[in-house]
Amino acid sequence: MFARPYWRSGKGRRPDLWAIVAIVLLASVFPVDLFPGGPHGQHGVDGQLNGKQGQVLLVHVPVKGQPADIAGRFLSRRVPFFQGASGPVGLLGIDMQDAPGTHELSVEVTDAQGSRRLSYNVLVIKEKYPVQHLTLPKDKVDLDEESLVRVKAEQEQVKTALEEVSPERFWEGGFVEPVHGTISGAFGRVRIINGQARSPHNGEDIAAPLGADVVAMNDGVARLTVDHFFSGKGVFVDHGLGLYSMYFHLLDITVQNGERVKRGQVIGKVGASGRATGPHLHWGVRLNGARVNPYSLLALSVGHPLSARQ
Ligand SMILES: [Zn+2]
Repeated sequence: MFARPYWRSGKGRRPDLWAIVAIVLLASVFPVDLFPGGPHGQHGVDGQLNGKQGQVLLVHVPVKGQPADIAGRFLSRRVPFFQGASGPVGLLGIDMQDAPGTHELSVEVTDAQGSRRLSYNVLVIKEKYPVQHLTLPKDKVDLDEESLVRVKAEQEQVKTALEEVSPERFWEGGFVEPVHGTISGAFGRVRIINGQARSPHNGEDIAAPLGADVVAMNDGVARLTVDHFFSGKGVFVDHGLGLYSMYFHLLDITVQNGERVKRGQVIGKVGASGRATGPHLHWGVRLNGARVNPYSLLALSVGHPLSARQ
């Protein structure tokens, strides 16, 4: 039996709740004052978008033709735009832990009429993530010095790789699931081990038979293949414009670093390498630093008319 954290006891609950309410209120009030806006860019005047934590949103801006330059920013992250059939389309990633409330998406457009700033309100809706309490022997939790050094170096390697933004969009058309199996619903799950909250689970786990094919979710470049302490054998695919997909715990990797891959192409086999309790694929997606739910990409209506193959 383990002790319940203080915030779950009746007494500690109320002050914490008020603190959260106060933060949410401040977060929803302050952006309005922090971005006074110019003549074109008053906060939120150009539209409203809603999305859950971890969701990817398509942003259509009322710009005719192809502007000379277009770039978006949301919570200090880049929002890339590309040319759709009826104008520029933006890909906005809401991080799994972006604060619920209203935040600004600003879009700088330069075309024949000059430069202007568009401003959208984005309402971030709280997602309910599972919380798992575990009690484990201390030696199963704490890493020895050598492993700790290794893990830190691996985290640095991943961080550096994901910061690279390829200016070209490699992907096109709809996204596909890398493997069919049992989806665990682990995206965003927080594990509290011996009373200490760990970083949230930033992908989805799909249980599938050992050796099953794992395919790329869309076209891209296999940017990094690794064999890491926690994630085991993994492939990082760069889809361009800051979009990356990750495939972990593989048994085998069947692509080389730098190799172009097509949507549906086999890049590895389902395994249990690294820290895994059984064969499954950990599928993660980053969009300009935002940790997003990979399944939200499948829901995007980009299959047509963006794809030349449809
Ligand atoms: Zn996982």
